[in-house]
Amino acid sequence: MAIATIAQAKDLRSLGLVASHSHITGLGLESDTTLEPRHISQGMVGQLKARKAAGVILQMIKEGRIAGRAVLMAGPPSTGKTAIAMGIAQSLGEDVPFTMVGGSEIFSLEMSKTEALTQAFRKSIGVRIKEESEIIEGEVVEIQIDRSITGGHKQGKLTIKTTDMETVYDLGTKMIESLSKEKVLAGDVVSIDKASGAVTKLGRSYARARDYDAMGADTKFVQCPEGEIQKRKETVHTVSLHEIDVINSRTQGFLALFSGDTGEIRSEVRDQINAKVGEWKEEGKAEICPGVLFIDEVHMLDIESFSYINRALEDDLAPVVIMATNRGISRTRGTNYKSPHGLPADLLDRVIIISTSPYSPDEIREILHIRAQEEEVELSPDALAILAKIGVESSLRYAANLIAVSHLVAAKRKANTVDVDDVKRSYTLFLDKDRSVEYLSQYANRYIGDSGNVELSSGG
Ligand code: ATP
Repeated sequence: MAIATIAQAKDLRSLGLVASHSHITGLGLESDTTLEPRHISQGMVGQLKARKAAGVILQMIKEGRIAGRAVLMAGPPSTGKTAIAMGIAQSLGEDVPFTMVGGSEIFSLEMSKTEALTQAFRKSIGVRIKEESEIIEGEVVEIQIDRSITGGHKQGKLTIKTTDMETVYDLGTKMIESLSKEKVLAGDVVSIDKASGAVTKLGRSYARARDYDAMGADTKFVQCPEGEIQKRKETVHTVSLHEIDVINSRTQGFLALFSGDTGEIRSEVRDQINAKVGEWKEEGKAEICPGVLFIDEVHMLDIESFSYINRALEDDLAPVVIMATNRGISRTRGTNYKSPHGLPADLLDRVIIISTSPYSPDEIREILHIRAQEEEVELSPDALAILAKIGVESSLRYAANLIAVSHLVAAKRKANTVDVDDVKRSYTLFLDKDRSVEYLSQYANRYIGDSGNVELSSGG
């Protein structure tokens, strides 16, 4: 049974956040052994090398061989970095956590950067807890002796509680000093030595018990109530370390899991939890299940966050961190130096890099075709061709956005199929980046601006 975080992470896939990737249901590989990507499969088109590399990573994650590693997906905007990460997420087992954050989400007003990162890391570690249900229906779970004094006489009562009933046996007025506990099953006959109170199991035959009964008045015989004895069950559920943190942080309580308002969690709480989880692991009660933390737009992080990640990857309890960026050589936030992908050299040194490259016109047409199907929009062949052209000349994202707009335009003229004119109309209604820049430079003096650097080349 998978609960909260895992479910939350998987739910992300159905939210608006990832709706633009809703057509992706996996990495589209031939099989788990060859890891060969099919040209078009599971909503994925082309980008074969990157998908194959992602398949290798996926396989290692599944085998639990890659915790604490970092992967960087680097490539121009709209080349499927996030799409491939979603493909990995879709292919992970139900109880392997997958957490997705955008680089800029780390900077929030409610908590420090390191707290936000810590929570993201801990959401990505699953703890598979094995619980052996000790209670068997009908089994005696408790033998309790009550001693009381009534009218100067000590009295004893034996309570045999089973999972489905509770029976109280009066042990008479004789003094009962002690009564040892012994595991007794339903249907067992026990003798209780009235003097010592010792409980002895005699087997399951009451007839035999009666024989004993005849032997002496010092012993009382009780047949434990019959119950249905069922097999022992093992239940397994997976929670994330973050969930355990929240449940155990005194100030927040588990309701915070639903509100998402977890605030900062004290480091002592986390230390205790790490120790506890370590104990469970030793005792075979739990398994650690490292999941995936996907940080999109990782160049939005600053130097402090990068050094946090560097350190966190060394931890025993580290997930696989997959980062994505569309930056080339750029400045690392919080510093004055430039580096490849805006990542500091020490972090760059430990990542393995998967690069994505621009799509061919055919691939762009295929992706737009799949998107249209996903959005249940019928495109005429000419409309698809012109959208693909726009995708090549402008951007894949812009062309994909025009699908829904063109659909509305077509619906206005009560047509079921989007035609070339509908696409043209939406193309004039909404500018792409290049035309917006052109417009800007034309009317630059009418806008309120600042004197900062203008960044037009990165897109995305
Ligand atoms: P950015 O750097 O701008 O964040 P990105 O590389 O993460 O871009 P995506 O968001 O993955 O790009 O891709 C843009 C859109 O194209 C998404 O809707 C995505 O699902 C789709 N897409 C990209 N590549 C593929 C592909 N190979 N197969 C199917 N769909 C794809």
